[in-house]
This record gives sequence, C-alpha cells and structure tokens, in this order.
Amino acid sequence: PSKRSLIVVSNRLPFVLKKAADGRMTRLASAGGLVTAVAPVVIKGKGLWVGWPGLHLPKDFNDANIPESDPSDQSPTAGLKSEQVVTVNCDPDLFEMYYNGCCNGTHWPLFHSMPGRTIFSADHWRAYVKVNKLFAEKTVDALERCSQNKGNNGVPIVWIHDYHLMLCANYIRELAEEKNIEFQLAFFLHIPFPPWDIFRLFPWSDEILQGMLGCDMVGFHIRDYCLNFVDCCQRNLGCRVDRKNLLVEHGGRSVRVRPLPIGIPFDRFVELATKAKKVIKTKHKVILGVDRLDYTKGLVNRLKAFEVFLERHPEHIGTVSFLQIAVPSRTDVLEYQQLKEEMDQLVGRINGRFSTAIWSPIRYIFGCVGQSELAAYYRDAAVALVTPLRDGMNLVAKEFVACQINEPPGVLIVSPFAGAGETMHEALLCNPYELDAAAEVINRALTMPVDERTLRMSRLRRREKEHDVDHWMRSFMKAMGSDVEEDDIGT
Ligand code: UDP
Repeated sequence: PSKRSLIVVSNRLPFVLKKAADGRMTRLASAGGLVTAVAPVVIKGKGLWVGWPGLHLPKDFNDANIPESDPSDQSPTAGLKSEQVVTVNCDPDLFEMYYNGCCNGTHWPLFHSMPGRTIFSADHWRAYVKVNKLFAEKTVDALERCSQNKGNNGVPIVWIHDYHLMLCANYIRELAEEKNIEFQLAFFLHIPFPPWDIFRLFPWSDEILQGMLGCDMVGFHIRDYCLNFVDCCQRNLGCRVDRKNLLVEHGGRSVRVRPLPIGIPFDRFVELATKAKKVIKTKHKVILGVDRLDYTKGLVNRLKAFEVFLERHPEHIGTVSFLQIAVPSRTDVLEYQQLKEEMDQLVGRINGRFSTAIWSPIRYIFGCVGQSELAAYYRDAAVALVTPLRDGMNLVAKEFVACQINEPPGVLIVSPFAGAGETMHEALLCNPYELDAAAEVINRALTMPVDERTLRMSRLRRREKEHDVDHWMRSFMKAMGSDVEEDDIGT
C-alpha cells in the first residue's frame, strides 16, 4: 500500500532545541496530544517537520547539526530523525514582531472575537508576511527533499498548522509550482474563525483569505467556524461558495472546507488517572478549573460567578471549594501581567470575605502541573468549570471526562462559546457573561442526582473515547483522500 509522506509545518517544532552547559545541542520533547498523534505518521511515512526550534540559532546553522534523539527518549518524536527536521531560523527582532506582535497581539484576540484587545500595526503585519515567506521557502526545500526520497509513494501532503502561518500556503504553491513539484496542501486552524463582522476589521483580511485558499483543504474544529470562513471568502473576495458542501471556488480551484474537531489521547489519560496518586485530600467537594492564564479563558468572570454562588447558596459554605490551576502564559506581555494582578486581587478579596478559621473557598495555583498530577485532579474533582469567553476547542473539558473513572462521576460545566461546548452535548452549559445563571449552574452541578450524573458522564466519555486524537488524524487523512493503516497511527 502506498504511504504518502506528510510534511508538517508549524510555528514550533515538536521538540525544542536546548544548549547544554557543555555547548552541545539537545532535544527537549513536547508532550501535547497533537504531537502524539501526528509525529508517528510523519515518522512512518518518512515525512518531515518544518518549524521554529524554540531558540535563535546562529545564522550559519545547518540542519545536519540537529542532534538525534537521546536513547532514553520515550516521547513520540524520538523516532524523528534529524534529516526529517527542517528548522526555520529567523532574526530575533523580526520574530518578536511576527510572534508577539502579529500572532499574539493581533490574530489571537481578533480571532477570539475581542477586537477591543486587538492591535493593528502595519509593521507587525509586514513581519508576519516576511516570516510566512520564510516558512514557505523552507517548506519547499522540504518538498524537494521529500521528492528525492526513494520509496515514498504518492503525492506528499503539506499540512500547515494554525494562525501563525495563514499566508504560507499561497507562497508554497507559487514556489513549488515553479519547480514542478507535485503536492497537496492542507491547513488546520486550532483557534476559532470569527464571523465576517469581526474578521473584516483586520486591514489585511483579504490577504489572509487568499493565503488560506492556496490550500486544497482547510480544516476547523467545528462547522460554525467553517461557515464563518466560507462567508468571509464570499463577502470579502466575492468567491463562489457552496455552503451545503462547504466548498469555495478560488483561482480556478475548488477548496474544501471541513470541520475536524480535535480529540485527546483518551486511553493515555485513563491510564494516567488509574495510576495517579491522590492529590486532593480534603473531605469536601472540589470544583476544578484548569487554564492558561489568558483573557479568553474567562477566569475573572468565573471567580465572580463563584462569589455570586457563595452569596446565593450559603448552604455550600464549608462543604465545597474551588481549585483554580492557572498556567503562566505570555508573562512578558503587559496585558497578561495585568490579568494576573486582577486575579490575585479577586482571589484575595473573595477568600477574605468568606473564609472561616478552618475553610477557605478558593485555592489558587499559579503554575504548571505535570500530566499525572493533573489526571489526579481531574479524577477527584466533583465539578469541572470550563467557561472560556471564547475557545477554539478546549482540551481540558475532554481530559476531565477521560479521567472521571471514579463512581459516581462528577459533572462537566462548559461554555457554549468553546468548541467543546458545541460537541459535548451532555455537559451543563454555562454562559460566563451571565453571573447569576452561572452561579445557579454550579449549584445544579453540585446537587445533581447520581443517576443523571452517571448517564451524562458515560455518554460524554463514550464520545471522547471514540473521537480521540488518533481518530482526528485519520479523519484528516481521509479528508485528503488518503487512508492510513491502523499501525501508522498512535504510539
Ligand atoms: N496543561 C498542562 N499542565 C497544566 C495545565 C494544563 O499540561 O498545569 C495542558 C492540558 O493538559 C491541556 C492543555 O494544557 O492539554 C490546554 O489545552 P486547551 O485546549 O484547554 O487550552 P489552550 O491552552 O491550548 O488554549
């Protein structure tokens, strides 16, 4: 059977390069579910991975100097040979304007429908264009390398990831067609795609659409994001579109738009939850929140809703506490520092208001927790509060249900503004802007009869087990007209 090579293009490589004290370069693997699902397909299909290595390398750095993985490395990328890695090396100032400036300062808030937080800067945009061109050049090098590889069958698939690289596809197409290289191009957006009203605020919105339409297939988490994209193509560019079949005509080609909701490595989380030691040692019930400290996650609203809950339901005082794990994120950016300040003050105020000598309502961890400890929190929590203001998917909601192996199970509360809220039908929905209603949902979750909890959780778990991250990978390959063999997926 033909094995098609997959060339993955992402802002970050699936590992970071680190300089050891003796000057040697080493690899530090990433543990995310995406890497776990995608890396085996790249490895087994003799594909390549194009990305930034996590540090600025000297200008004359040669990819031949990328170290092989350490023999003790058990990560999914351990089998990725150095010749399968293409580093994108970039001037640090240019990278800063591209990454913190355009990607995180513009695209992140705008695509999460928060135009008030969006900075529009022509300099940042120019940096974004330049860096996308750089990634495209490197990808075409990778394609050339791939086509020289004997034993590779079929046309290679180039798969570009996320909002950092929305212009890349078109540049790749131009460069590769000049060289008569055959390939298929796909893009997947891990964040929401906003409605036209918001999207068109961006002064260079046409360029973004044209960039993405360089692909044969464009994937989003849910159908709503697909429809937003199709709508923007029609209204901004005047493309002919087919909403029923999710097609966009552009430059004489028909671009397929597909909902491909991402999943998690379900079985791995079950295993972690089975083995993890107890970390919640209190007698009372725990409501859990786990998020990067980001303004899209609705943490301030969540704390305020919990305060209203304590006001309206004093019967729970002393019997339940709220544990929020907030992972530091983009800590060099002022906006994120201000959010941390606001959280610190709010936690202090609410705790000051309700604490007794032997109980306080909120426990707040500002830090990162390892996967195994996290699984223990997920397993032993009575309620998970996943209430972002906007979120592409939200993996925490899925990881929580995977880890709910205790009988009777707990309850998931999720915001309708997260992709997970669209797909996890048995969760309780909670609008994070509506504090009174949110407080009542928390009460409902805490007082839900066992039968109802069991039914809801078993259905949620069944769906996530079936639609895990390997299923997502297979759906992607299918959408590209290519099936993968069972042994090519997973670790
Ligand atoms: N996570 C982690 N350690 C922590 C908190 C979170 O490894 O202390 C992981 C979590 O397991 C999940 C990811 O961070 O896989 C968060 O993904 P999500 O889609 O919920 O949000 P994102 O941060 O990508 O916006």
